[in-house]
Amino acid sequence: MPEGKSKKMSWGRLPFGAQRVVELSSRFQALPALDSMLPYGNGRSYGDVCLNDSGSLLAARRLDRFIAFDPASGVIDCEAGVLFSEIIDLVLPSGWFLPVTPGTCLVTVGGAIANDVHGKNHHRLGSMGHHVSELELLRSDGQVLLCGPQLNREWFAATVGGMGLTGLIRRAKIQLRRVPGPWVRGDNLRFSSLDEFFALSRESDRDYEYTVAWIDCAAAAARRGRGILTRGNHAPANIRPPRPSALCMPFIPPVSLVNSLSVRAFNQLYFHRPASQTPDALWHYRPFFYPLDGIGDWNRMYGPRGFFQYQCVVPPGDAGPALNEMLARIGRSGMGSFLAVLKTFGDRPSPGMMSFPRPGATLALDFPNRGAPTLSLLESLDQITRSAGGAVYPAKDARMSAASFQQYFPEWRRFGEFVDPRFSSSFWRRVTKDTT
Ligand SMILES: Cc1cc2nc3c(=O)[nH]c(=O)nc-3n(C[C@H](O)[C@H](O)[C@H](O)COP(=O)(O)OP(=O)(O)OC[C@H]3O[C@@H](n4cnc5c(N)ncnc54)[C@H](O)[C@@H]3O)c2cc1C
Repeated sequence: MPEGKSKKMSWGRLPFGAQRVVELSSRFQALPALDSMLPYGNGRSYGDVCLNDSGSLLAARRLDRFIAFDPASGVIDCEAGVLFSEIIDLVLPSGWFLPVTPGTCLVTVGGAIANDVHGKNHHRLGSMGHHVSELELLRSDGQVLLCGPQLNREWFAATVGGMGLTGLIRRAKIQLRRVPGPWVRGDNLRFSSLDEFFALSRESDRDYEYTVAWIDCAAAAARRGRGILTRGNHAPANIRPPRPSALCMPFIPPVSLVNSLSVRAFNQLYFHRPASQTPDALWHYRPFFYPLDGIGDWNRMYGPRGFFQYQCVVPPGDAGPALNEMLARIGRSGMGSFLAVLKTFGDRPSPGMMSFPRPGATLALDFPNRGAPTLSLLESLDQITRSAGGAVYPAKDARMSAASFQQYFPEWRRFGEFVDPRFSSSFWRRVTKDTT
């Protein structure tokens, strides 16, 4: 089992400590006899949920074999290191697609299950765990547990959204969904306030499988809450797919390129560009689902200090005032970036005891790391999330307090009973500090 001190990072590129990396190459190999291990997928989590400061990472990306795919039923069985992009390449020609996908296809199956990821169709199809019919979990004592919605159900509920802490997911079976081809048809529609967003979103969720909005977090108070809602459905079309983009962020700039001036200027242009109001648009699935994957290493634009992402969900009753207050605070702070996403979750209960999705509106924003002022702004957003009875997404987090986490995820103590005694993460130690 090759080992080394390679520098594994998470997507936010924040300066975390080092960890030993153990490269896994076969799903049949035993786990190493180490005291503190954590599976690592493709590092697309933003903070420390995929890191294990001073411990070891079990790099699972090379567990990348397809085991079976039935083009009649759309069930795929594969190892946990397979990327979503690799699944799409295999199954789309037979008319199948992922039932749920996050905003990047460069995630592994294991990582997507461990964070119970959601996509633009949460209001229709829920989260990733709803489509996993079986998974195989390897514990540090060598025990292998076959889990599913009807099999070892408690272990399944702990492992879906379990942040890699219950053991190593070796393989999983996923039920794919039928599509007529690689195209999505729908609209881009401008809205000028949060009230308008909620009305448009309600109406769109009825007729469209995918709905998501970009929001202008730098708008002046009079225009606060304006943005662009995108909605779409899979659709047939007989057009040649575009070539994948070869754009790449070639270097890490010495300072963040994201500042109040650049954000304000970009947002103004983005909101007013003609494509922001396009009824009946046709997209290839790649730019529709994965616009940022077209720019390699875009996370470098935040410079050497990296960035934080903040993603919260606020229950429906309080969503309007809570989000309005968050946008006001972000606007006053002069922080925040062009990457600001707003969506409403549906009310299908999540399958994992630690899953993040729950009914309400979810807002996700990037913030360049400017040290104390950024941390203090994020804590003040947490105050709003806490008072509204919402939650913050661990996959995106690098700083929430233990008290916040324990309020957001009240089942955390019960979940602790399923954590493998030899597994841990920087995130888990931080959010259970002084309490375990
Ligand atoms: C541009 C971008 C857009 C995104 N959009 C969304 C979105 O729309 N919705 C959403 O939900 N998320 C989104 N994310 C977050 C991303 O989907 C999750 O963080 C995902 O879990 C990352 O998968 P990964 O394979 O990179 O896993 P990692 O980030 O490496 O690990 C994630 C977690 O999975 C665990 N893990 C990894 N492999 C295994 C395994 N084999 N067995 C057990 N545990 C394992 C790790 O321990 C860790 O806790 C986005 C991220 C980016 C960069």
